Amino acid sequence: MIAVLSGGTGTPKLIQGIKNIHDPSDLNIIVNTVENDYFSGVYVAADIDTVLYTLADVINDETWYGIKNDTFLTNESLKKLGCPELLRIGDKDRATKIQKTILMKKYGLSQAVDIQRKKMGIKSKVIPMSDEHSDITVKTSIGHLKFHEFLIEHQTKPEVFGIDYTSVKPSPNILEIIEESEMVIIGPSNPITSILPIVNLEGVEKALKNNYVVAVSPIIGNSPFSGPAGKFMKSMGYEVSSFGVASIYKNFLDRFIIDDVDRELKENIEKLIEEVIVANTNMKNIIDKENLARIVLK
Ligand code: GDP
Repeated sequence: MIAVLSGGTGTPKLIQGIKNIHDPSDLNIIVNTVENDYFSGVYVAADIDTVLYTLADVINDETWYGIKNDTFLTNESLKKLGCPELLRIGDKDRATKIQKTILMKKYGLSQAVDIQRKKMGIKSKVIPMSDEHSDITVKTSIGHLKFHEFLIEHQTKPEVFGIDYTSVKPSPNILEIIEESEMVIIGPSNPITSILPIVNLEGVEKALKNNYVVAVSPIIGNSPFSGPAGKFMKSMGYEVSSFGVASIYKNFLDRFIIDDVDRELKENIEKLIEEVIVANTNMKNIIDKENLARIVLK
């Protein structure tokens, strides 16, 4: 059994590679939930749905959000009716979200997701990090913003001074899953808003320390491949580089994969982490994804 800690863009790219070279039924994917919230009346667990769609081979892998070739009739109709629709949710994607919202009236999030992944024919387990709701706030130069206000309304432009999220309990079985896995993979996800919320759950860091943990850096040179990870790292006082990511993960990481571009950082990072591998981490196509997956699983 292998455990993977995931957000909703970089790690799903790696998961596309892993599932092609390794038995998908052997994977337990623990997914960030701090960005989950209600939009236009439905519960949006964006990272979880991205992981589900990735495993079901229907992900829109241009945007890493929603289902490929989806239509937007409901979105357009809602906008005409004056509904703000902060998120542009596709019709098929909305069906997943409506069903999750209905299931959650009866079940916890983990059970709702498990019902959905089975219906989608997904063999890997997809486990929300928590069944509890967490509020995430970004402290910025224009005030405290809700995560999606910062991300979508303000397009990550304001200067960031810090991130706050309410602490939540881990969902059932996470600690056992981490403890019983042969290895834990931390994909190239935003360390501050995707990975640390999982690591900071009660008991998780200790469980990681007792296991073999491999991570892929989401930073190349001095910036992330995409998204606000750099801004968030800087706001927390970390250097925006693979060295900065290593200093976040150093207490529990055994092997760290950094990009070819950052070869000269290897020696310095080795002062924090035992084994540092230099490889191509830029996943442009399925060959890159499978090659990186091979290095991660080795
Ligand atoms: P989010 O939930 O949408 O923020 O997604 P994640 O946290 O899973 O992923 C965002 C991170 O993925 C960003 O910090 C990117 O730098 C990283 N990322 C995206 N594509 C790649 C890639 O091809 N290679 C690597 N190494 N990192 C990537």
